[in-house]
Amino acid sequence: MEGYIHSIESMGTVDGPGLRYVVFTSGCPLRCKYCHNPDTWDIKHGKKMSVTEILDDLEKYREFLKDGGLTVSGGEPLVQIDFVTELFQLAKKRNIHTCLDTSGCGFNFSTDKLQKFDNLLKYTDLIMMDIKHIEHDKYKVLTGGNLQESLDFLEYISKNPNIVIWVRHVILKEYTYNKKSLYKLGYHLGQYSNIKAIDILPYHNMAINKYEQLGIEYPLTNTPPMNKEHAKKALKIVKIGMRDRLLGNKPLF
Ligand code: SF4
Repeated sequence: MEGYIHSIESMGTVDGPGLRYVVFTSGCPLRCKYCHNPDTWDIKHGKKMSVTEILDDLEKYREFLKDGGLTVSGGEPLVQIDFVTELFQLAKKRNIHTCLDTSGCGFNFSTDKLQKFDNLLKYTDLIMMDIKHIEHDKYKVLTGGNLQESLDFLEYISKNPNIVIWVRHVILKEYTYNKKSLYKLGYHLGQYSNIKAIDILPYHNMAINKYEQLGIEYPLTNTPPMNKEHAKKALKIVKIGMRDRLLGNKPLF
C-alpha cells in the first residue's frame, strides 16, 4: 500500500524512546495556531511512498534503532489509518518497536471505522497522544477541531492494556499556560493508569518563515515563545491535578 509522506527523519531523538526512524505523513484536518508544519496540512502535497519502500529504507539504520524504532507522526497519521496499520503490521513482523504520534482527531466511538482502530492498535506499542487543550471551547479556538474526539480516543486507547501512552501538551500564553487549564488537564489524565509520561512542550515561533513562504498568515505574531522553566512550572501543576484525581479529591476547578 502507498501513503502520502511529507518527510522522513532517519534518526529522530524526540519522537519516542531511543533513536527513531520518523515518518511524517501528509494530511491534517486541524489548524493548530502554533503548528510548525503547515506544509503537512494538504495530503496531496506529500510524496507517495509504499510501506515496503519505507521499511527497506529503515533497515539501513537498523543497528542505530535497537533501543528505539519506528514513529509515525504528521500531519495527522490517522488520516491515513489503513496505510499506518499496514506499515506497523509489517514493522512488527520485522520486530520493530512502533509509536504513533497523534492528536486522536477524527475518532468517535460510534464510527464504523472502529474496526480499523482496533486493527491499528494491534500493531502499536506506544501512542504519543497530543492533547492540545482540555477545555472544549478553547480547544476549538486553538485548533479548529473538536476536543471530544481527542478525549474519546484517549479513553479508547486507555482500555487497551498493551498500549503505553505518553501525553504531549504544548504550553503557550493566553491559551494553555494558566493554572486552571493545566490543573484540569492533570485531573483528567489522573484517571488513566497507562499514561507513563507527560511531556510539556514550550511554544516556539520558529515556523514563522515557513508560513511566509507558504503565503499563510502567522496567527500568533504577538505570542511570546516559552522556555523550559515555564514547562517545569506547568508540569508541576499538571501533576497536582493528577494527584488529586488519584487520591479521589474533588477538583479545584
Ligand atoms: S495536529 Fe499537528 S500537523 Fe495538524 S495542525 Fe496541529 S500541530 Fe499542525
